[in-house]
Amino acid sequence: MKEKPTGISRRKALAGAGTIAATLVMSAAGNAGEQTSSEPTPQVGRRPRGSRLADVIAATPFVDTHEHLVEEERRINWSGPVGGVPCNDWALLFSHYLDSDLQVAGLSGKDYAALISPDTPLDRKWALVEPHWPAVNNTGYGQVVRIAVRELYGVDEINARTIPRINENYRSLIKPGFYAKVLREHAGVESCQVNALDAPFRETSQPLLLMQDISILSLGSANANLWRSLPDSSGQKAQDLAGWHRVIDDYFAKYAPYAVAAKTQIAYSRRLDFADVPAEQAEAPFKKILAKEPVTPAERKALEDHLFWYCVRQATKHGLPVKMHTGYYAGHGGMPLDRVVQNPADVSNLLRQAPDTTFVLMHIGYPCQEQMISLAKHYHNAVIDMCWAWIISPTASERFVRDFLVTAPANKLLTFGGDYIPVECVVGHAAIARRGLTRALEGLAADGWLSRSDAIDLVEPLMRGNARRIFNLDQKERALANVPWLKSKS
Ligand SMILES: [Zn+2]
Repeated sequence: MKEKPTGISRRKALAGAGTIAATLVMSAAGNAGEQTSSEPTPQVGRRPRGSRLADVIAATPFVDTHEHLVEEERRINWSGPVGGVPCNDWALLFSHYLDSDLQVAGLSGKDYAALISPDTPLDRKWALVEPHWPAVNNTGYGQVVRIAVRELYGVDEINARTIPRINENYRSLIKPGFYAKVLREHAGVESCQVNALDAPFRETSQPLLLMQDISILSLGSANANLWRSLPDSSGQKAQDLAGWHRVIDDYFAKYAPYAVAAKTQIAYSRRLDFADVPAEQAEAPFKKILAKEPVTPAERKALEDHLFWYCVRQATKHGLPVKMHTGYYAGHGGMPLDRVVQNPADVSNLLRQAPDTTFVLMHIGYPCQEQMISLAKHYHNAVIDMCWAWIISPTASERFVRDFLVTAPANKLLTFGGDYIPVECVVGHAAIARRGLTRALEGLAADGWLSRSDAIDLVEPLMRGNARRIFNLDQKERALANVPWLKSKS
């Protein structure tokens, strides 16, 4: 699919930002009976000098630094459950991340399975959610879905009566081009950075809209299935560690020019205490795992430590920042908080060990966000990314922005990543992020920590400019306008 140049999309994004602002104003008026002074109002595509902070935020597009969106074609041609898209009705919006709040609130695993099954009748689906809805409709995850339903489907309340209309509008939105429409016009996003969950790098059909990370989770894991399936550039599959090094080298050589970053969420399975293990020590566990022989936890760790640094050095050689999951775990019932709270200290060692690598520390390390600010303040190569954070805790994120901006340099903060599989939910998340950013900056100005004009000057870098610089987007956009995989397909 041919993509529109960014000049046009920027204008569209600006227009979309105005729509978002209008939604927020409507919702604030509806909920509180009056409009508060810090709510944005529509200000489409204009940033006049002396305008209100809320208007500037509403009119500025986000560079969205983290998503898990599947390809648009997978949504349009949906014919049965596939990774990340279990059904093709309104319940999809509840499948990520609201599924976790619902189940923690009391929805059983069996009822959740029925909710996302394509075979369950739509009215039965709402009956499953309804008893738990009051407990979750005010969390960040719940508010995302409410805002998305309002903004995309024009429906103010989700209930038994409105579900048929929501479903009708859900279905009619999904047609070619709906990703660009949802992201640029409704979420006010100029481009996304996607961490594909089905391949180390995805040859997307919309490279300028859905920029991609290289997953060093898969390339850097003790995953013999991948070793057996992914060849180097000469078609050879790895027989030993040196062979796997060649695969990694060739993968980066092929895709790094078109990737925005390297990304790992290995923090879901281990601490971030990566020792710089030499190849000689990693060779034996590599061969054992390839031969399906047992290894000790220490041997596995040594191999993963080695592969982590191997991939980090490749990323750095190719000018790619390294994005790392830190903090809170997605899902429910599985987070070892003792490991999570070690993330900031473990990362501080990585920051010293690799001064030439830019580490993007994702999700503000919630609930350890104060420690993360200390890393951003202390280490030149630490960048903090608020992706996902606004909906884990909207108010903690607002406080985080306030604390960050008067503590650490403002050029090291990224303020938005939806972190979603269903694109529709990005709309809700972006609205919450705009609201939180507005309140944080308004608050700092009102309390005398920033002048109003200093606060306004921070908006463009925080929403867009920092990300464009850190991920080198001017250069990437030139490369992505001409990707080899679309040429060979047409
Ligand atoms: Zn993510």
